[in-house]
Amino acid sequence: MESIWLKEVSFQKRSSLHKDLKTDVVIIGAGITGILTAYFLKKKGFRTVVLEADRICGGQTKGTTAKITSQHNLIYDRLIRVYGEEKARHYAEMNEWAIREYERIIAEKRIACDFVKCSANLYSCMEEEPLQREAEAARRLGISAQFKTECELPFAVKGVLEFRGQARFHPLKFLKELAEGMEIYEETPVLKVEHCGAGNNFVTAGNASVSAGKVIFACHFPFVNIPGYYFARMYQERSYVIALEHAAKLQECYLGIDQNGYSFRQEGDLLLLGGGSHRTGDNRQGGKYQMLRNEAARLWPGCREEAYWSAQDCMTLDQIPYIGAFDKKAQDWYVATGFGKWGMTSAMVSARILSDLLEGKEVTQAEIFSPQRRICMAAVKELVVNGGVAAGNLAKQLLSPKRTEEGTEEGKSFEVSVKCPHLGCKLSWNPDEHTWECPCHGSRFDSRGRLLDGPAQRGIRKEKN
Ligand SMILES: Cc1cc2nc3c(=O)[nH]c(=O)nc-3n(C[C@H](O)[C@H](O)[C@H](O)COP(=O)(O)OP(=O)(O)OC[C@H]3O[C@@H](n4cnc5c(N)ncnc54)[C@H](O)[C@@H]3O)c2cc1C
Repeated sequence: MESIWLKEVSFQKRSSLHKDLKTDVVIIGAGITGILTAYFLKKKGFRTVVLEADRICGGQTKGTTAKITSQHNLIYDRLIRVYGEEKARHYAEMNEWAIREYERIIAEKRIACDFVKCSANLYSCMEEEPLQREAEAARRLGISAQFKTECELPFAVKGVLEFRGQARFHPLKFLKELAEGMEIYEETPVLKVEHCGAGNNFVTAGNASVSAGKVIFACHFPFVNIPGYYFARMYQERSYVIALEHAAKLQECYLGIDQNGYSFRQEGDLLLLGGGSHRTGDNRQGGKYQMLRNEAARLWPGCREEAYWSAQDCMTLDQIPYIGAFDKKAQDWYVATGFGKWGMTSAMVSARILSDLLEGKEVTQAEIFSPQRRICMAAVKELVVNGGVAAGNLAKQLLSPKRTEEGTEEGKSFEVSVKCPHLGCKLSWNPDEHTWECPCHGSRFDSRGRLLDGPAQRGIRKEKN
């Protein structure tokens, strides 16, 4: 089902790319990252072309809950311990700046996008201590944070961590205005990117191509495997949302830190209830929407469901996005990915860092986000675990006697190949979404085998015997 954002906003249809072009910068992907980066680059005088495989905001951005916040779950206490106070401060400063920048752009361009300033809160029904530690760490880094024991949620909590001065908005109303006048080509999937010498890159999209001085991968999960090796450094996580009428009206945003904690966020008369996160490809039992519906009925008997949807995001090894140069071996290529479900401020931070880097400016705060940063020990462990999951699913595919399987949707069954075309892992069925999903890197396909989400670049129609 569609998210509430898509019910209210439709983007004017743009043409696909039919002729070869030459430009300063090509951006791959017209989600929030691609559009914000194009906006910054355009202001700096770069000719920028955006190539989008689907429609504008056809990827994960349409499924967000759009809390604009520097409160990225429990992060600051860990950042200080692992990367030191200076780098942790850079992370906090850039994300706090991003909130102010949304407010500034919205005021400057007078965009009617339901922008509301409000606090963001983490809550726990089990323990106070992690929230108190995080409050202390956040305050050290300059964030207006306080620990509380009460809030407006309709159940008892042990503790709440409030960040003041945060916000929420209607992401598609905002992006529709921003995308006005941009050179964006829709239904133009990029198939290949080649580096042909300094400042000379060749991007193939369908039957046409773009020559560009610089290339920015804003396509959520980069589809180029080598160089970069992002497939080894990220996985994807999926979450579910229902929009409720006649539930509570909450002034502030909330996220639970306990296992099975929920996300709450008001949008007009609707309350968005989110949860049920799992590694993409790991929901064989289903029941995620039902779990949210049960919780809604328990908290607000008589509430009514207006919409339901799900989306996924890229998770990095150390929970910090990869924003900056794509790889040492790929001069002129840049990337913004791995937002860990905090893409509103991360996309704004990406737009600033990437547009400054392209201008040749030094960005002091950029180091903590660099894809080439030295990773911490915890991240090394994640690398091993992630590699293990991928190897296990690859082995499953190689050892499986079944090359094809059937998925059922609306009473009809469709037989597809269950080998992921990205790196060959075994796909698994998600009964909540009626989709085939790759547990290794998060590619998704509909019941008929059509590609929904990358990094795979093609579908999984049944192989001929
Ligand atoms: C359930 C959920 C709730 C969330 N809520 C919040 C929240 O409250 N606050 C917050 O900060 N963040 C939130 N997030 C995270 C946020 O929504 C994402 O991080 C963000 O939308 C990612 O934007 P993007 O532009 O990077 O990716 P996308 O929106 O996916 O855009 C990438 C685009 O690239 C295109 N593309 C892919 N491959 C190609 C190709 N080969 N050629 C051309 N185009 C291509 C895709 O079609 C897509 O349109 C949430 C995430 C989830 C899953």
